[in-house]
Amino acid sequence: MIYLDNAASTPVADQVLQEMLPYMKENFGNPSSIHRFGRLATKAVEAARKKIADLIGAQPDEILFTSGGTESNNTALFGALEKNPASLITSSIEHDAILEPCKKLESQGHKVIYLPVDSSGTVDIEKLKSAITDETGLVSIMYANNEVGTIQPISEIAQICKQHQVLFHTDAVQAVGKIPINVRDLGVDLMSISSHKIHGPKGVGALYIRNGVQIAPLVLGGGQENGLRSGTENVANIVGFGKACQLAKENLDANFAYLKNLRDALIQNVSDEISHVSINGHGKNRLPNNAHFTFLGVNGEDLIIKLDENGIAASTGSACSVKTQKASHVLAAMGFAHEQIAGSLRLTVGLTNTTEEIDKTVTVLKKVVSELRSVSPFKSKYGFAN
Ligand SMILES: *Cc1c(COP(=O)(O)O)cnc(C)c1O
Repeated sequence: MIYLDNAASTPVADQVLQEMLPYMKENFGNPSSIHRFGRLATKAVEAARKKIADLIGAQPDEILFTSGGTESNNTALFGALEKNPASLITSSIEHDAILEPCKKLESQGHKVIYLPVDSSGTVDIEKLKSAITDETGLVSIMYANNEVGTIQPISEIAQICKQHQVLFHTDAVQAVGKIPINVRDLGVDLMSISSHKIHGPKGVGALYIRNGVQIAPLVLGGGQENGLRSGTENVANIVGFGKACQLAKENLDANFAYLKNLRDALIQNVSDEISHVSINGHGKNRLPNNAHFTFLGVNGEDLIIKLDENGIAASTGSACSVKTQKASHVLAAMGFAHEQIAGSLRLTVGLTNTTEEIDKTVTVLKKVVSELRSVSPFKSKYGFAN
């Protein structure tokens, strides 16, 4: 199989697994214990915390461990707005792990404003400026979109929020580890990270909470994580997450170049080989590993099934959309017509992919797109050369 769904998840790196194993076996202690098993576990958790902080230019005490990107987003939104009637500004292209908490906050009486995006998937800074009022308590805008890879002007957004003294959260799950990020330089207050998108284990992530920012805990109990997230720490996963962050930091430039090279070749070859295809997202401000296409006259879900049969793992975009069968809210917000949304395909390259795999993918893609178009109801409309 050729795996081209690295935005959905990535394989755990060997070095990550090696570092985790002792904490599932002999070093199994509970960090809250006073004896040496406990101290060993605490030491491992704190070493990992420093590695996560180092990757994003934070202090270790600004890192809160969670169960992943979803919980980090929930903690940021509910934690910042609990007991605060303030309104919230977000974008119309966020991950469901932001949009669903927003719905709940709306049902609890909070006003939520969903900023529109342009056809590249970029939030309009002027619209943000005019949306902020005295009532705004939090702005949450994703760093990079999981479907089309568009990177938002996060530094500018953070500046605007600072000027208005409004808290700013960013869901940086897709961006961290792929592009250089320094929370101090950016001026963000809260930032979500997930381990399994950067070759760490699933079920662990972090919320960066700038020193001085107060949020309320979602999970109450034994008072771990400074009382912000009770429950015995997932030590092995935290250790693996730390190692994944360390590797991402050490290899950031080389990985960026590697991914971008594969992705650019993929886009170039698809454009050269297949007709009636558009490349979606921003031309320049995009993640190095994301390629997002629309093949006119083709149904994306059919395409994915055909690709799977031919040994290629791909996606229409959001992992959640497949189960609910709903049209992509991201592409709809970018102004895509139903037909364009239907024909979309997301290919996200990863560190385990090779040039040969990209070549093979383009060959297979050309074949299956042609097969699907030969039976497409749009065949005569577009005059596909079948
Ligand atoms: C994957 C993803 C999440 C969810 O992270 P989990 O660790 O899987 O809960 C949130 N936001 C974005 C943008 C993502 O890509």
